[in-house]
Amino acid sequence: MQKEKPNIRTIDEAGLKDWLKVQGEKPFRAKQIREWLWKKHATTFDEMTSLSIDLRTRMKEHFRLPALQVSQLQKSRDNTIKVGFRLEDNLLVEGVLIPSAGRYTACISSQLGCALGCRFCATARLGLNRNLHFDEIFDQVALLEKICREHYQQEKLDNIVLMGMGEPLQNYENVIKAIELFTGKEGPGYSPSRITLSTVGIIKGIERLADDKVKFNLAISLHAATDEKRSEIIPVNRKNNLEALGRSLKYFHDKTGTRITLEYVLMDGFNDHPEDAAKLALFCKQFPCKINLIPYNPVEGAPYKTSDEIRTLRFKTLLEKRNLVVNIRQSRGADIEAACGQLASTHKKPGLRGKSGRPGTKTT
Ligand code: SF4
Repeated sequence: MQKEKPNIRTIDEAGLKDWLKVQGEKPFRAKQIREWLWKKHATTFDEMTSLSIDLRTRMKEHFRLPALQVSQLQKSRDNTIKVGFRLEDNLLVEGVLIPSAGRYTACISSQLGCALGCRFCATARLGLNRNLHFDEIFDQVALLEKICREHYQQEKLDNIVLMGMGEPLQNYENVIKAIELFTGKEGPGYSPSRITLSTVGIIKGIERLADDKVKFNLAISLHAATDEKRSEIIPVNRKNNLEALGRSLKYFHDKTGTRITLEYVLMDGFNDHPEDAAKLALFCKQFPCKINLIPYNPVEGAPYKTSDEIRTLRFKTLLEKRNLVVNIRQSRGADIEAACGQLASTHKKPGLRGKSGRPGTKTT
């Protein structure tokens, strides 16, 4: 069997220099190649016109250059764009471009499916297929940026949120490497302050982010402030309970100085009572944070409903009375199943159809 050529995008600068040396080429070519890959987002060797045709030919012989392809694109009534990206192994992953008040947010995925089984989540129903590689995470940003230019004549994205398919902290190395590429000099150079990683609350991962002193933002999909309710909708809470989560978030803030965002999807009669607001306020006392209240997208087969406006405003007022910063976020792209974690529709099988959503996503 013929051995597969290595993916050139997985080779660092030192590795490229070694290969170029063997080829009798100058080491500075390594920088040029990486610039083509990460700044100019070349998807073929032929695009790398600052390299000789001979070198490009040898690169083609030695390496492969996989890149995500836009396979499906849907635009919602509110101009949200959902994209199905085709991966090298022919599987599909989804990302969303959200225009809002003149700002453009890319919501990207970190895993193909998810293993965590949250009760309200479309992605959960897929199970985990595999982690995305860092170049596959990077490509979603590069392609959503291109779509932003083509559809909205906007050169750069305003925000990048890891809130799509998957739990980013269960794919730690690839996620961090992709973020380094978005923010590094070699890539498009986004400021870390424009990037938000959203987690359901994996404590070891949060502590690791703190120890790594990351500069990007952290959002927690909280959705309930008692262990009983939270474990009902987020099974991983049983091993990562609220007490431990609160401690890890305090640790994160102490190490990074970053204010944490708590995402809270309001479900009628489940987590929107005055006593829920009181418990949430108590949880928030442990570290500086802001709260995003998000309308729930009903899920077929799940017993939860969307809180009405009166209950939503009451909840917000109760939190504000306790001096907390609270925003009510609007779901975007619901008509194309791009809102609040409805990301699974390009994978739908008969019997799996549902308006399910991952609370806390696509709400910027
Ligand atoms: S909500 Fe997030 S962590 Fe939970 S199953 Fe869905 S993608 Fe996974």
